[in-house]
Amino acid sequence: MIQRHDTVPVKVGKVTVGGDAPIVVQSMTNTDTADVAATVAQVQALARSGSELVRITVNNEAAAAAVPHIRERLDALGVGVPLVGDFHFNGHRLLAEHPACAEALAKYRINPGNVGSGEKRDAQFTSMIETAIRHDRPVRIGVNWGSLDKALVAAMMDENARRAEPLDADRMMREIMVASALQSAARAEEIGLPRDHIVLSCKMSRVQDLIGVYRLLAERSDYALHLGLTEAGMGSKGIVASTAALAVLLQEGIGDTIRISLTPEPGGDRTQEVRVAQEILQSMGLRAFMPMVVACPGCGRTTSTYFQQLAQDIQSYLREQMPVWRERYPGVEGMDVAVMGCVVNGPGESKHANIGISLPGTGERPAAPVFIDGEKAVTLKGDRIAEEFQEILENYVRTRYGSSETTGARGERG
Ligand code: SF4
Repeated sequence: MIQRHDTVPVKVGKVTVGGDAPIVVQSMTNTDTADVAATVAQVQALARSGSELVRITVNNEAAAAAVPHIRERLDALGVGVPLVGDFHFNGHRLLAEHPACAEALAKYRINPGNVGSGEKRDAQFTSMIETAIRHDRPVRIGVNWGSLDKALVAAMMDENARRAEPLDADRMMREIMVASALQSAARAEEIGLPRDHIVLSCKMSRVQDLIGVYRLLAERSDYALHLGLTEAGMGSKGIVASTAALAVLLQEGIGDTIRISLTPEPGGDRTQEVRVAQEILQSMGLRAFMPMVVACPGCGRTTSTYFQQLAQDIQSYLREQMPVWRERYPGVEGMDVAVMGCVVNGPGESKHANIGISLPGTGERPAAPVFIDGEKAVTLKGDRIAEEFQEILENYVRTRYGSSETTGARGERG
């Protein structure tokens, strides 16, 4: 059991971030926010795939004007996911001049390094915090290494240089990130934003830096923390780097909400970042989002791709069913399905799943034993093994999770 770092819970619309609440999955659109139709479609897709908060950029007048319409259309579609507005240099003006935008958003994200410089900085930061107070909205103070407050960097570097034993460059970078977040949060509280309206993030692009910074943040504060490796990259590189960083922190109980910042392939699916976030949390046993398919890697016994295909088909089938199943069959997200490539080792794994099948390996009898709750239920033969297994799976879900008497099981293995 992972002991979570104690943080102050923050309400973001209907979602709670921090405290004892489950770790929240969030994502961000990459559409032009002013394009209402495209943004609504992407928010809907992200929410449907399981994103519990969706961030949209609010970078200009047109985007700010579009936000209330985006909210209205989502509500009309029955998509209640809270929207978070990402603000930068002109955020103070956009929030002040577009009260309907400020109201439609459930949270504002402010980067203290991007709210202006010199004297303007405090006035503009204050204005944004005052808007949040007026609308009773929480704020994420999101520090980013790429856009740190230059004055703070210069002051802390000078101070370090005067030390008898100056800290090394990496340590200083982490200290500056943490100082920027904590000083901005303290200033927001001074202006009047309650502590339970503040979430902090310090995004870095290197795994060890991210781990180091969040350990310091968790040591020095009890603000709810948003985790994410920034500029993680494309494909497996982005997934591996994000997982490596987040897994260490989550294991230490650090982090209340996560986002996986993947660069999609051209024309690629934005919802991948949601799936990866869910898979990290589920594989660590922190949350359950959808049934897990346990498939063996295959070996010399599996000379055909039949079992790989079946494992993939079952995975896709489960993913497609989940938006409906989630409501209809509470607890189904904790179900384990095993698809194994031979009958030598397959039955053992199948017995440990809620439902499992072992396909015949090379030279084995063309028969596929199916195990349900640890007991052999049937042996499938012939050309319709895949279809019949899917029917068995559907029946199992209906009877196991479909009535109030059975929901108490909540995916425990039989
Ligand atoms: S379960 Fe069978 S097919 Fe799969 S890896 Fe193990 S021995 Fe090979």
